[in-house]
Amino acid sequence: MALFAAWYLLVQVSPQSSVKSFRGYFHLAEGCGARWSASLEDSFNRYQSGHQGYWMDLTLVLGKLWQPVVLPSLTVLTPEKCIALAKEVHTTALKFLDAEVHASTRLYMLHGRLEPLKDEVPKKITVVLRHYLQLVTNSNHRKAITRLLVSQHPLAIERMRYKQRYHRVEVLRDQRLCRFGCREVETVEHALFFCKKSAALVSR
Ligand SMILES: [Zn+2]
Repeated sequence: MALFAAWYLLVQVSPQSSVKSFRGYFHLAEGCGARWSASLEDSFNRYQSGHQGYWMDLTLVLGKLWQPVVLPSLTVLTPEKCIALAKEVHTTALKFLDAEVHASTRLYMLHGRLEPLKDEVPKKITVVLRHYLQLVTNSNHRKAITRLLVSQHPLAIERMRYKQRYHRVEVLRDQRLCRFGCREVETVEHALFFCKKSAALVSR
């Protein structure tokens, strides 16, 4: 399972089709230390002689990860090393994801987020089905919540971030004001909890 997760994350990070062979190769490692397949040995030999193939693809992709991972030589590769390698790829992918989220000002609502856990202290989890997505049964509502959290919404704080037809210059953050004339920045928090200018919105 860990190998599959690593393979999946690897493909997400580097979607070259040849990388999909990663799972097939390391499936061997899961099976009682079975011998490497002839095709794997062939690709390794081709890599050593400077020719393209699966082994070269894997080497290049692993080396281009956010934190490069070194693929050991086939001659020293063991099932245990394969599992350790997959865990390293998995950990690197999670660190990459964490860094991307925290570097993004648009994802500020996800910064430092602690996931509520049953009978446990809330803790940081990089990838998980969030508890609010399990609580909300309406799929459209789940999508709406997700859009708010990742700044994919039509409020001024986002819409006026970019040059558009009616405002061809960049609008500074503190000038992206509420459309109802509040003199406050039209953020998610303002629209949901503080804006009192629209009776229709407040009554909902
Ligand atoms: Zn307002």
